[in-house]
Amino acid sequence: MATITFLGAAQEVTGSCHLLESPGIGRVLIDCGMHQGGDAVERIQDEQFAFDPASIDAVVLSHAHLDHSGLLPRLCHEGFTGPVICTRATAELLEIMLNDSVGLYVRDLERTNIRNARQGRPLLDPIYTMEDVEAVVRQCDGHRYRDTVPLGESASLRFYDAGHILGSAIVEITLREHGEKKVLVFSGDLGKGDSALMNEPTVLDRADVLLVESTYGDRDHRGEEDTEVELRDILRETWQAGGNVMIPAFAVGRTQDLLFHLGCLHYQGELDNWQVFLDSPMAIAVTRVYDRWLKLLDGEDIRHLSDVHKNSLEKFLPTLNLASGTEESMAINRIRSGAIIIAGSGMCTGGRIRHHFKQRIWDRRNTIIFTGYQARGTLGRVIVDGAKTIRMFGEEYVVKARVETLGGLSAHSGQRELLAWVAGFQPQPRTLLVHGEPTAQDVLADRLWQDQKLKVRIPARGDSIVF
Ligand SMILES: [Zn+2]
Ligand SMILES: [Zn+2]
Repeated sequence: MATITFLGAAQEVTGSCHLLESPGIGRVLIDCGMHQGGDAVERIQDEQFAFDPASIDAVVLSHAHLDHSGLLPRLCHEGFTGPVICTRATAELLEIMLNDSVGLYVRDLERTNIRNARQGRPLLDPIYTMEDVEAVVRQCDGHRYRDTVPLGESASLRFYDAGHILGSAIVEITLREHGEKKVLVFSGDLGKGDSALMNEPTVLDRADVLLVESTYGDRDHRGEEDTEVELRDILRETWQAGGNVMIPAFAVGRTQDLLFHLGCLHYQGELDNWQVFLDSPMAIAVTRVYDRWLKLLDGEDIRHLSDVHKNSLEKFLPTLNLASGTEESMAINRIRSGAIIIAGSGMCTGGRIRHHFKQRIWDRRNTIIFTGYQARGTLGRVIVDGAKTIRMFGEEYVVKARVETLGGLSAHSGQRELLAWVAGFQPQPRTLLVHGEPTAQDVLADRLWQDQKLKVRIPARGDSIVF
């Protein structure tokens, strides 16, 4: 008998974390993600584990995004010493992501503590440090897709390509107890079928229990080719208005997709004289990791790119400028028009994009292009929802820039793709929806019932099931 307890990404998108327990495998954590939104220091200080980290035997990690991996340093800080089982590309990306995330936290905490000291308040102790990132990296156990990896005494697991970001995986865990075999499949985040850089999510057909993400359970995306046209038109209009474009982008996945599409527009002669800036040391580092794996990624275009551009997305876009240092980043402020600025963070919860907003969000000639999901409570969501003013750095800014969303660049399956992926399982498994906001989950649950007569459960945080 095994139990799964849903500890995060339950009726919400971020904080993915599920605890799998059985006598044969002990206690295995599937993902150890961070919630996103609000003040980073407060949020991180507030996150609490619902278990003793020292009691966890292993972590199985679906992919490197922080909403799936961000609390691993804290887990190690509080006593976890087991393996972090993931794909090899995830292990490479994880080191970059965690170094960046913990580095930001440590700097923010120092600032908060200076303020606390001035106000006579108690100082906060760090809940993790850079040493914990080193521990996570040491504990990483990277595998190839489809390798069979032993888990505890009586189980094994396999990763399958989820097509979401580099290294992203669908996790299949096979438990063998008392002569009985049970299969648990966790979708992780599922990619979009027609993504330029990623493969299609692997279709599996057998599971007893299925946990499936539902981020876009209530809508479909436009195709990626239409999206390139949409991007071209927005750029053209902004160019004619004499403005600049700001693109808050996730360092992993969206940024590389964007560089690829901008490269394609360049070769079609459609990029005017835009200067493109990648203003994120992390995104620059991640793009280099992508370059090393480009040959394994998808599509005719990519194969062409591998030969011609020596496996480099950077070289594919000749007008690309890399801004790794703060001075290079600040120099972008002096450009009056014609700059496309790609900067983190993807949901505008921190990072350099906010500094660019400060310079340009109040000017109607400029455009902001969102390329990914904006979770509730993030600055990105506030802007997408049409706020007339926003607060940043303790001041109010009027939002006059044009705001666009390119849903077609999403890294997630849309509703149609989710339905098709779930339909691949025969006979129907016991299915639970995770990683989605309640509205999207309700719509998807209805569709699964109407189209496939599949009754799903939508667990709340703290719920568990026995199988
Ligand atoms: Zn993800
Ligand atoms: Zn996610």
